[in-house]
Amino acid sequence: MNVLVINAGSSSLKYQLIDLTTQEVHAKGNCERIGIEGSFITHSEHGGETERTPAPFPTHRDASEYVLDLITGLGLSIDGIGHRVVQGGWYFPKSVVVDDEVLAKVREVAPLAPLHNYVEADVVDAMRAAMPEVGNVVVCDTSFHYSMPETSWRYALPRDVCDRLHIRKYGAHGTSHRYIWRATNEFTHGETHKLISLHLGSGSSLCAIEDGKSMDTTMGLTPLDGLIMGTRTGTVDPATVFYLERVGGYTVDEVDTMMNKQSGLLALSGISSDTRDIEAGAEKGDENCIIALEMFGYRTAQLTLEMAQAMEGFDTMAFSAGIGENSPLCREKICERLAWQGVRIDKEKNAVRSGEVRDITGEGSSVRVLVVPTNEELMIAYDVQELLG
Ligand code: ADP
Repeated sequence: MNVLVINAGSSSLKYQLIDLTTQEVHAKGNCERIGIEGSFITHSEHGGETERTPAPFPTHRDASEYVLDLITGLGLSIDGIGHRVVQGGWYFPKSVVVDDEVLAKVREVAPLAPLHNYVEADVVDAMRAAMPEVGNVVVCDTSFHYSMPETSWRYALPRDVCDRLHIRKYGAHGTSHRYIWRATNEFTHGETHKLISLHLGSGSSLCAIEDGKSMDTTMGLTPLDGLIMGTRTGTVDPATVFYLERVGGYTVDEVDTMMNKQSGLLALSGISSDTRDIEAGAEKGDENCIIALEMFGYRTAQLTLEMAQAMEGFDTMAFSAGIGENSPLCREKICERLAWQGVRIDKEKNAVRSGEVRDITGEGSSVRVLVVPTNEELMIAYDVQELLG
Protein backbone atom coordinates (compact mmCIF):
# COMPACT_ATOMS: atom_id res chain seq x y z
CA MET A 1 0.00 0.00 0.00
CA ASN A 2 1.39 3.44 -0.98
CA VAL A 3 0.41 6.28 1.31
CA LEU A 4 0.97 9.95 0.56
CA VAL A 5 1.67 11.77 3.83
CA ILE A 6 1.17 15.53 3.87
CA ASN A 7 2.42 17.87 6.57
CA ALA A 8 1.31 21.42 5.84
CA GLY A 9 2.83 24.18 7.97
CA SER A 10 2.12 27.89 7.94
CA SER A 11 4.35 28.53 4.90
CA SER A 12 5.48 25.04 3.92
CA LEU A 13 4.10 21.73 2.69
CA LYS A 14 6.15 18.59 3.35
CA TYR A 15 5.23 15.31 1.70
CA GLN A 16 6.33 11.68 1.48
CA LEU A 17 5.08 8.78 -0.57
CA ILE A 18 5.63 5.72 1.64
CA ASP A 19 5.28 2.08 0.60
CA LEU A 20 4.01 0.42 3.77
CA THR A 21 4.90 -3.08 2.62
CA THR A 22 8.61 -2.26 2.45
CA GLN A 23 8.64 1.04 4.40
CA GLU A 24 10.46 2.49 1.41
CA VAL A 25 10.04 6.24 0.84
CA HIS A 26 9.44 6.50 -2.92
CA ALA A 27 9.55 10.28 -2.94
CA LYS A 28 9.71 13.13 -0.52
CA GLY A 29 10.05 16.87 -0.51
CA ASN A 30 9.02 20.23 0.77
CA CYS A 31 7.34 23.25 -0.80
CA GLU A 32 8.75 26.28 0.96
CA ARG A 33 7.94 30.00 1.18
CA ILE A 34 4.31 29.44 0.23
CA GLY A 35 2.62 32.82 -0.11
CA ILE A 36 5.99 34.57 0.09
CA GLU A 37 8.17 35.78 -2.77
CA GLY A 38 10.81 33.28 -3.90
CA SER A 39 8.86 30.07 -3.28
CA PHE A 40 10.50 26.81 -4.30
CA ILE A 41 10.30 23.03 -3.93
CA THR A 42 12.92 20.50 -2.86
CA HIS A 43 12.19 17.01 -4.09
CA SER A 44 13.94 13.63 -4.11
CA GLU A 45 12.99 10.19 -5.39
CA HIS A 46 13.99 6.76 -4.07
CA GLY A 47 16.55 8.21 -1.66
CA GLY A 48 18.34 9.98 -4.51
CA GLU A 49 19.67 13.51 -4.69
CA THR A 50 17.45 16.39 -3.61
CA GLU A 51 16.64 18.85 -6.39
CA ARG A 52 15.62 22.40 -5.69
CA THR A 53 13.32 24.05 -8.22
CA PRO A 54 11.77 27.53 -8.07
CA ALA A 55 8.00 27.23 -8.38
CA PRO A 56 5.16 29.70 -7.92
CA PHE A 57 3.15 28.85 -4.77
CA PRO A 58 0.83 31.78 -4.01
CA THR A 59 -1.30 29.43 -1.87
CA HIS A 60 -1.14 25.98 -0.26
CA ARG A 61 -3.67 24.83 -2.83
CA ASP A 62 -1.19 25.62 -5.62
CA ALA A 63 1.54 23.75 -3.77
CA SER A 64 -0.69 20.67 -3.27
CA GLU A 65 -1.61 20.57 -6.94
CA TYR A 66 2.07 20.83 -7.90
CA VAL A 67 2.96 17.98 -5.51
CA LEU A 68 0.17 15.77 -6.82
CA ASP A 69 1.40 16.28 -10.40
CA LEU A 70 4.92 15.29 -9.34
CA ILE A 71 3.76 12.23 -7.40
CA THR A 72 1.33 10.94 -10.01
CA GLY A 73 4.17 11.40 -12.53
CA LEU A 74 6.02 8.58 -10.73
CA GLY A 75 3.48 6.14 -12.18
CA LEU A 76 2.84 4.54 -8.77
CA SER A 77 -0.52 4.06 -7.13
CA ILE A 78 -1.64 6.39 -4.33
CA ASP A 79 -3.82 4.23 -2.10
CA GLY A 80 -4.54 6.75 0.62
CA ILE A 81 -3.56 10.22 1.80
CA GLY A 82 -2.73 11.06 5.43
CA HIS A 83 -2.75 14.66 6.66
CA ARG A 84 -1.07 15.92 9.77
CA VAL A 85 -3.41 18.29 11.58
CA VAL A 86 -1.91 20.28 14.44
CA GLN A 87 -5.05 20.90 16.48
CA GLY A 88 -7.96 18.47 16.78
CA GLY A 89 -9.52 20.47 19.61
CA TRP A 90 -12.29 18.65 21.45
CA TYR A 91 -13.34 16.53 18.45
CA PHE A 92 -10.73 13.95 17.46
CA PRO A 93 -9.62 11.37 20.02
CA LYS A 94 -8.45 9.23 17.08
CA SER A 95 -7.47 9.64 13.45
CA VAL A 96 -10.49 9.72 11.12
CA VAL A 97 -11.41 9.34 7.46
CA VAL A 98 -12.27 12.73 6.01
CA ASP A 99 -15.79 13.75 5.04
CA ASP A 100 -17.39 17.20 4.90
CA GLU A 101 -18.26 17.09 8.60
CA VAL A 102 -14.69 16.24 9.63
CA LEU A 103 -13.34 19.08 7.55
CA ALA A 104 -15.84 21.52 9.07
CA LYS A 105 -14.64 20.47 12.55
CA VAL A 106 -10.98 20.98 11.61
CA ARG A 107 -11.93 24.54 10.62
CA GLU A 108 -14.13 25.05 13.69
CA VAL A 109 -11.23 24.40 16.08
CA ALA A 110 -8.80 26.46 13.97
CA PRO A 111 -8.84 29.51 16.31
CA LEU A 112 -6.73 27.34 18.65
CA ALA A 113 -4.05 26.95 15.91
CA PRO A 114 -4.82 29.62 13.32
CA LEU A 115 -1.52 29.37 11.46
CA HIS A 116 -1.96 25.66 10.84
CA ASN A 117 -5.52 24.33 10.79
CA TYR A 118 -6.88 26.63 8.06
CA VAL A 119 -4.14 25.77 5.59
CA GLU A 120 -4.29 22.08 6.54
CA ALA A 121 -8.03 22.06 5.79
CA ASP A 122 -7.41 23.83 2.48
CA VAL A 123 -4.87 21.18 1.50
CA VAL A 124 -7.32 18.37 2.35
CA ASP A 125 -9.91 20.14 0.20
CA ALA A 126 -7.48 20.40 -2.70
CA MET A 127 -6.53 16.70 -2.49
CA ARG A 128 -10.17 15.58 -2.37
CA ALA A 129 -11.00 17.70 -5.41
CA ALA A 130 -7.99 16.50 -7.40
CA MET A 131 -8.31 12.78 -6.54
CA PRO A 132 -11.91 12.09 -5.45
CA GLU A 133 -11.37 8.32 -5.67
CA VAL A 134 -8.63 8.31 -2.98
CA GLY A 135 -9.49 8.39 0.72
CA ASN A 136 -8.04 11.07 3.02
CA VAL A 137 -7.34 10.66 6.73
CA VAL A 138 -6.62 13.37 9.27
CA VAL A 139 -4.16 12.58 12.04
CA CYS A 140 -4.20 15.19 14.81
CA ASP A 141 -1.20 16.00 17.00
CA THR A 142 -3.55 16.39 19.94
CA SER A 143 -5.37 13.02 19.67
CA PHE A 144 -2.82 11.02 21.65
CA HIS A 145 -3.31 13.24 24.69
CA TYR A 146 -7.05 12.51 24.96
CA SER A 147 -6.20 9.81 27.49
CA MET A 148 -4.84 12.32 30.02
CA PRO A 149 -6.72 12.32 33.31
CA GLU A 150 -8.66 15.44 34.27
CA THR A 151 -6.01 16.23 36.91
CA SER A 152 -3.57 16.71 34.01
CA TRP A 153 -5.71 18.52 31.43
CA ARG A 154 -7.90 20.84 33.49
CA TYR A 155 -6.75 24.39 34.28
CA ALA A 156 -7.71 26.02 37.57
CA LEU A 157 -9.65 28.80 35.82
CA PRO A 158 -13.40 29.47 36.18
CA ARG A 159 -15.27 26.46 34.81
CA ASP A 160 -17.77 28.49 32.76
CA VAL A 161 -14.95 30.35 31.00
CA CYS A 162 -13.10 27.10 30.23
CA ASP A 163 -16.29 25.44 28.97
CA ARG A 164 -17.34 28.35 26.78
CA LEU A 165 -13.90 28.91 25.23
CA HIS A 166 -12.71 25.26 25.31
CA ILE A 167 -9.69 26.17 27.41
CA ARG A 168 -7.69 23.15 28.62
CA LYS A 169 -4.40 21.40 28.04
CA TYR A 170 -4.41 19.84 24.56
CA GLY A 171 -0.69 19.18 24.22
CA ALA A 172 1.09 18.62 20.89
CA HIS A 173 3.62 16.31 19.18
CA GLY A 174 1.16 13.48 19.93
CA THR A 175 1.91 11.58 16.73
CA SER A 176 5.62 11.69 17.50
CA HIS A 177 5.14 10.59 21.13
CA ARG A 178 2.89 7.74 19.95
CA TYR A 179 5.59 6.62 17.49
CA ILE A 180 8.29 6.89 20.18
CA TRP A 181 6.20 4.69 22.49
CA ARG A 182 5.77 2.10 19.74
CA ALA A 183 9.45 2.07 18.70
CA THR A 184 10.60 1.96 22.34
CA ASN A 185 8.44 -1.03 23.10
CA GLU A 186 9.54 -2.86 19.98
CA PHE A 187 13.13 -2.29 21.10
CA THR A 188 12.57 -3.34 24.72
CA HIS A 189 10.26 -6.24 23.76
CA GLY A 190 7.35 -4.81 25.72
CA GLU A 191 9.35 -4.24 28.89
CA THR A 192 8.61 -0.51 29.00
CA HIS A 193 5.60 0.50 31.10
CA LYS A 194 6.32 4.03 32.29
CA LEU A 195 8.03 6.03 29.58
CA ILE A 196 9.22 9.63 29.56
CA SER A 197 9.22 10.55 25.88
CA LEU A 198 11.48 13.55 25.21
CA HIS A 199 10.71 15.14 21.83
CA LEU A 200 13.41 17.82 21.74
CA GLY A 201 13.55 19.77 18.48
CA SER A 202 13.06 23.40 17.62
CA GLY A 203 9.72 22.87 19.35
CA SER A 204 10.02 20.55 22.34
CA SER A 205 7.70 18.63 24.62
CA LEU A 206 7.81 15.78 27.10
CA CYS A 207 5.12 13.17 27.50
CA ALA A 208 4.42 10.74 30.34
CA ILE A 209 3.26 7.52 28.66
CA GLU A 210 1.98 4.69 30.82
CA ASP A 211 1.24 1.42 29.01
CA GLY A 212 0.70 3.31 25.75
CA LYS A 213 -1.48 6.08 27.20
CA SER A 214 -0.50 9.72 27.46
CA MET A 215 -0.90 10.66 31.14
CA ASP A 216 0.48 14.19 30.92
CA THR A 217 2.49 16.39 28.61
CA THR A 218 4.35 19.68 28.90
CA MET A 219 2.66 21.67 26.12
CA GLY A 220 -0.69 23.17 27.05
CA LEU A 221 -3.55 25.01 25.38
CA THR A 222 -0.92 25.89 22.79
CA PRO A 223 2.64 24.73 22.00
CA LEU A 224 4.09 27.70 23.91
CA ASP A 225 4.01 26.00 27.30
CA GLY A 226 6.56 23.78 29.00
CA LEU A 227 10.20 23.43 28.01
CA ILE A 228 12.57 26.16 26.85
CA MET A 229 12.48 25.91 23.04
CA GLY A 230 14.41 27.35 20.09
CA THR A 231 12.53 30.66 20.09
CA ARG A 232 9.64 29.99 22.53
CA THR A 233 9.67 30.86 26.22
CA GLY A 234 8.11 27.70 27.56
CA THR A 235 6.47 28.21 30.95
CA VAL A 236 6.77 31.67 32.47
CA ASP A 237 4.64 33.30 35.16
CA PRO A 238 1.42 34.18 33.25
CA ALA A 239 1.43 37.59 34.96
CA THR A 240 4.52 38.42 32.88
CA VAL A 241 2.08 39.00 30.02
CA PHE A 242 0.03 41.60 31.94
CA TYR A 243 3.23 43.26 33.17
CA LEU A 244 4.67 43.51 29.66
CA GLU A 245 1.45 45.10 28.47
CA ARG A 246 0.71 47.43 31.40
CA VAL A 247 4.20 48.49 32.36
CA GLY A 248 6.26 47.64 29.27
CA GLY A 249 3.73 49.17 26.87
CA TYR A 250 3.78 46.20 24.51
CA THR A 251 0.65 45.23 22.56
CA VAL A 252 -0.87 41.74 22.70
CA ASP A 253 0.56 40.97 19.26
CA GLU A 254 4.01 42.17 20.26
CA VAL A 255 4.01 39.98 23.36
CA ASP A 256 2.80 37.04 21.25
CA THR A 257 5.68 37.55 18.82
CA MET A 258 8.18 38.05 21.64
CA MET A 259 7.18 34.87 23.44
CA ASN A 260 6.90 32.70 20.32
CA LYS A 261 9.68 34.00 18.09
CA GLN A 262 12.21 36.03 20.09
CA SER A 263 12.60 34.04 23.31
CA GLY A 264 13.86 30.61 24.36
CA LEU A 265 17.39 29.52 23.46
CA LEU A 266 17.69 32.40 21.00
CA ALA A 267 17.10 34.97 23.73
CA LEU A 268 19.26 33.19 26.31
CA SER A 269 22.25 32.64 24.04
CA GLY A 270 21.88 35.94 22.24
CA ILE A 271 23.23 34.31 19.06
CA SER A 272 20.99 31.53 17.74
CA SER A 273 18.01 29.25 18.32
CA ASP A 274 20.02 26.30 17.01
CA THR A 275 21.73 24.18 19.66
CA ARG A 276 24.61 23.46 17.25
CA ASP A 277 25.57 27.15 17.28
CA ILE A 278 25.03 27.41 21.02
CA GLU A 279 27.20 24.35 21.71
CA ALA A 280 29.94 25.86 19.54
CA GLY A 281 29.61 29.16 21.45
CA ALA A 282 29.79 27.40 24.82
CA GLU A 283 32.88 25.53 23.65
CA LYS A 284 34.54 28.91 23.06
CA GLY A 285 33.58 30.05 26.55
CA ASP A 286 30.60 32.30 25.68
CA GLU A 287 28.86 32.77 29.05
CA ASN A 288 25.39 33.29 27.53
CA CYS A 289 25.66 30.05 25.56
CA ILE A 290 26.85 28.19 28.65
CA ILE A 291 23.87 29.39 30.73
CA ALA A 292 21.47 28.64 27.84
CA LEU A 293 22.58 24.99 27.78
CA GLU A 294 22.53 24.73 31.57
CA MET A 295 19.00 26.13 31.71
CA PHE A 296 17.84 23.81 28.95
CA GLY A 297 19.24 20.85 30.90
CA TYR A 298 17.80 22.03 34.20
CA ARG A 299 14.28 22.75 32.90
CA THR A 300 14.13 19.50 30.96
CA ALA A 301 15.22 17.47 33.99
CA GLN A 302 12.76 19.37 36.19
CA LEU A 303 9.84 18.72 33.85
CA THR A 304 10.91 15.08 33.44
CA LEU A 305 10.20 14.64 37.13
CA GLU A 306 6.92 16.55 36.79
CA MET A 307 5.93 14.05 34.09
CA ALA A 308 7.10 11.15 36.26
CA GLN A 309 4.64 12.25 38.93
CA ALA A 310 1.78 11.58 36.49
CA MET A 311 2.86 7.90 36.46
CA GLU A 312 4.34 7.78 39.97
CA GLY A 313 7.65 6.70 38.54
CA PHE A 314 9.35 5.96 35.23
CA ASP A 315 11.31 3.01 33.90
CA THR A 316 12.51 4.37 30.54
CA MET A 317 13.53 7.68 28.98
CA ALA A 318 13.53 8.03 25.19
CA PHE A 319 15.36 10.99 23.59
CA SER A 320 14.06 12.02 20.19
CA ALA A 321 13.83 14.75 17.47
CA GLY A 322 16.59 17.13 16.28
CA ILE A 323 18.25 17.75 19.65
CA GLY A 324 17.27 14.49 21.38
CA GLU A 325 18.63 12.37 18.51
CA ASN A 326 21.72 14.40 17.61
CA SER A 327 23.11 16.16 20.65
CA PRO A 328 25.09 13.97 23.06
CA LEU A 329 25.89 17.12 25.06
CA CYS A 330 22.23 18.05 25.66
CA ARG A 331 21.39 14.45 26.62
CA GLU A 332 24.29 14.50 29.06
CA LYS A 333 23.25 17.86 30.54
CA ILE A 334 19.73 16.54 31.20
CA CYS A 335 20.79 13.17 32.61
CA GLU A 336 23.49 14.72 34.80
CA ARG A 337 20.76 16.69 36.57
CA LEU A 338 18.80 13.46 37.13
CA ALA A 339 21.78 11.58 38.59
CA TRP A 340 20.33 12.03 42.11
CA GLN A 341 17.38 9.95 40.86
CA GLY A 342 19.81 7.24 39.80
CA VAL A 343 19.79 8.05 36.06
CA ARG A 344 23.11 7.12 34.42
CA ILE A 345 24.22 7.18 30.81
CA ASP A 346 27.23 5.53 29.24
CA LYS A 347 29.48 8.28 27.83
CA GLU A 348 30.81 6.18 24.97
CA LYS A 349 27.41 4.91 23.90
CA ASN A 350 26.03 8.43 24.21
CA ALA A 351 28.69 9.72 21.80
CA VAL A 352 27.72 7.25 19.01
CA ARG A 353 25.85 8.81 16.09
CA SER A 354 23.36 6.65 14.24
CA GLY A 355 19.86 6.72 12.79
CA GLU A 356 18.83 3.60 14.72
CA VAL A 357 17.14 3.12 18.07
CA ARG A 358 19.97 2.69 20.58
CA ASP A 359 20.50 2.08 24.27
CA ILE A 360 22.78 4.57 26.06
CA THR A 361 22.04 3.40 29.62
CA GLY A 362 25.02 3.57 31.99
CA GLU A 363 25.98 0.94 34.51
CA GLY A 364 23.79 0.82 37.60
CA SER A 365 21.18 3.20 36.16
CA SER A 366 17.74 3.19 37.79
CA VAL A 367 16.05 3.52 34.39
CA ARG A 368 16.76 2.54 30.81
CA VAL A 369 17.85 5.47 28.61
CA LEU A 370 17.32 5.23 24.84
CA VAL A 371 17.71 7.35 21.74
CA VAL A 372 14.70 6.78 19.48
CA PRO A 373 14.60 8.56 16.09
CA THR A 374 11.05 9.72 15.60
CA ASN A 375 9.06 9.14 12.40
CA GLU A 376 5.74 10.99 12.45
CA GLU A 377 5.21 10.35 8.73
CA LEU A 378 5.38 6.59 9.20
CA MET A 379 2.95 6.80 12.12
CA ILE A 380 0.51 8.79 9.95
CA ALA A 381 0.89 6.21 7.15
CA TYR A 382 0.10 3.38 9.62
CA ASP A 383 -3.10 5.19 10.63
CA VAL A 384 -4.11 5.53 6.97
CA GLN A 385 -3.48 1.82 6.48
CA GLU A 386 -5.57 0.96 9.52
CA LEU A 387 -8.50 3.11 8.40
CA LEU A 388 -8.38 2.63 4.64
CA GLY A 389 -6.24 -0.46 4.08
P1 ADP B 1 11.39 20.73 14.12
O1 ADP B 1 10.74 20.98 15.44
O2 ADP B 1 11.50 21.94 13.26
O3 ADP B 1 10.92 19.48 13.41
P2 ADP B 1 13.82 19.22 14.58
O4 ADP B 1 13.24 18.13 15.39
O5 ADP B 1 14.31 18.89 13.21
O6 ADP B 1 12.89 20.49 14.52
O7 ADP B 1 15.02 19.87 15.39
C1 ADP B 1 15.78 20.91 14.87
C2 ADP B 1 16.80 21.36 15.93
O8 ADP B 1 17.62 20.25 16.32
C3 ADP B 1 17.77 22.39 15.40
O9 ADP B 1 17.25 23.69 15.54
C4 ADP B 1 18.95 22.17 16.31
O10 ADP B 1 18.75 22.97 17.47
C5 ADP B 1 18.87 20.72 16.74
N1 ADP B 1 19.94 19.89 16.14
C6 ADP B 1 19.93 19.27 14.95
N2 ADP B 1 21.09 18.60 14.74
C7 ADP B 1 21.85 18.82 15.84
C8 ADP B 1 23.17 18.40 16.26
N3 ADP B 1 23.94 17.63 15.50
N4 ADP B 1 23.62 18.81 17.46
C9 ADP B 1 22.86 19.61 18.24
N5 ADP B 1 21.62 20.02 17.92
C10 ADP B 1 21.12 19.64 16.74
